[in-house]
Amino acid sequence: MLSRALKYLEEKHTCPHCKEELSLCHAPPMHVGDGLGWGSEFLFICLNDECSLFTKGWQYIEDQYGHVGSYRHMEIPGSKETYNMMVAGSAAFTGSLVDVEALKDQNERFQKEQKAVAALDNCVENGDLESVLYLILNEHGKLSDRKRAVEYLLPLNDVSCIDPIRNFSFRDTGLEQAVNMALNKLLADNFLKECPFCAELIKSRAAVCKHCQKEL
Ligand SMILES: [Zn+2]
Ligand SMILES: [Zn+2]
Repeated sequence: MLSRALKYLEEKHTCPHCKEELSLCHAPPMHVGDGLGWGSEFLFICLNDECSLFTKGWQYIEDQYGHVGSYRHMEIPGSKETYNMMVAGSAAFTGSLVDVEALKDQNERFQKEQKAVAALDNCVENGDLESVLYLILNEHGKLSDRKRAVEYLLPLNDVSCIDPIRNFSFRDTGLEQAVNMALNKLLADNFLKECPFCAELIKSRAAVCKHCQKEL
């Protein structure tokens, strides 16, 4: 859906009635009557209140049907179909405008995630803790990718991963447990522990913390 929406954003559609650019909107959940939908999650709609189709529509609908309403020009993306869509007022569809910035953010995140997942295969050879951390600390990411990333914490053997992970709160408790187990093992492998007072890394044999000077 995301890639399709981004493709549509690059298309420029103009209203034949007013020559204004059409707006990309989320399709309403149902086509009036048939329940089959528009066959598209998106619709291009002329939301120009000065559009001649819209301004003249009020009188036409009043005369033809005796109720209040007008028309908006609408096109279905990827097809040549165009419609005069009946609307009850000028606010119709303004609430279903596609949020372009949110969509671009979402896409950027998706691309970054794909890149990090691809980088996992060679992350140990490349010392690529960054990709591993990106996935582990990405609450929008797929859980299976994040769990896979956790498995690289020990082979990477880089204790600089501890701080960012400790400062993060995980929504998934299973993932959190897996991460904690990996960190404990990583500390033990490096003969380190975390000071219970200041959380700095110290030798596991230390009797006094070299950072906060507290006795352990
Ligand atoms: Zn128009
Ligand atoms: Zn300390």
